[in-house]
Amino acid sequence: MAIPSGSDFPLENLPYGVFEARDGRGHIGVAIGDRIFDLRTAAEAGLLENVGDRASYSAGSLNPILEAGPELWRALRERLADLLARDGDPVLRNLNVARFFVDQCSARMRVPVEIGDYIDFYSSEQHATNLGKMFRPNAEPLLPNWKWMPIGYHGRAGSIVIDATPVSRPCGQRKPASAAIPVWGASTMLDFELEIGFLTGRAAIFGVVLVNDWSARDIQAWEYQPLGPFLGKSFATTVSPWIVTMDALAPFRVAPPEQDPQPLSYLRIPGDANYDINLEVKLETEEMRRRGMGPIGIARTNAGGLYWTFEQQLAHARSNGAKIRPGDLFASGTISGSASGSYGSMIELTWGGSKPITLPSGERRSFLEDGDEVTLHGWCERRGLRIGFGVCRGRVAPAQICAGSATQER
Ligand code: CA
Repeated sequence: MAIPSGSDFPLENLPYGVFEARDGRGHIGVAIGDRIFDLRTAAEAGLLENVGDRASYSAGSLNPILEAGPELWRALRERLADLLARDGDPVLRNLNVARFFVDQCSARMRVPVEIGDYIDFYSSEQHATNLGKMFRPNAEPLLPNWKWMPIGYHGRAGSIVIDATPVSRPCGQRKPASAAIPVWGASTMLDFELEIGFLTGRAAIFGVVLVNDWSARDIQAWEYQPLGPFLGKSFATTVSPWIVTMDALAPFRVAPPEQDPQPLSYLRIPGDANYDINLEVKLETEEMRRRGMGPIGIARTNAGGLYWTFEQQLAHARSNGAKIRPGDLFASGTISGSASGSYGSMIELTWGGSKPITLPSGERRSFLEDGDEVTLHGWCERRGLRIGFGVCRGRVAPAQICAGSATQER
């Protein structure tokens, strides 16, 4: 199997997704180079005999595979590595090979899992500190509970959309500082949040995707007290189409930052529990697109520095007896580094809008404008091995008319 050099999807990756096949149904596939290997067609041709239940491969989502558990995941990964190895498996070679493959560039991807519950954490110390400084300028930036447990909230699974889905600017209630009473209208402080998220399977974490937790800062700032995020974040959350498995990520494990104070015993989970995932955010405006300028990088960071690890997030989420199900999504929260070019949201990059970014087109941005497209990238690189996550894109569409008129101010 020929893999273009620098591809996000070499043989060592083999991430899973769901694409819309020619028959109009969702097919489970695995990304290899710039193509997709169609697992449903492969299973129907008998190429996955003795690797799980054939019916699992004809589902329109990855849920049956997530539910099958780690033993099947390992067996499937081995089988796929054999089938897709450089010279190809003899079985595959003797068949009409083309029908098992689809070009990624022409494939329409779907959210790969029917996501049951969605939790969004707040695991980056730098991000929590930056927001604390902005929202509570005269107090300690981190609240007293932050270093004792992973803080999070339950998000809205029904608003999770796949890469490249347009995101309409939300309308809502907000209260400008100068106004005596709140107003209704389209958000004027639309933001992205650079995150990664893991999906649970039976008895283990299955894999990781890129997550953009779109946020309307003006709606959020007015509504969040005392119960936390609500409509300012529930209108859209974009995920990347390929789930990179924990097996593929294993070579990129790193030690998380030292935790001080030492957490309570149920959160003491030693080991190299973080992942060295490089992350980048690119922005392209309508004007940049018109002038053929291409997108520009506005932030670069790494997930290896997250204070709270996946295992700690999971341990905390189930510590009250809540049942975690296969297909639940746990997002990290915005990932920011300590330097200004490493912040994972506009509100941090422009410091609450007070320091707008100047783009190559001469335009300035405090928050996102209609037509702006945000692209998240993620990749791991170590000792000559590189795997990637593909992209997680979303373009801002003008506000829809909701609950009256988008332009109505009250
Ligand atoms: Ca978030």
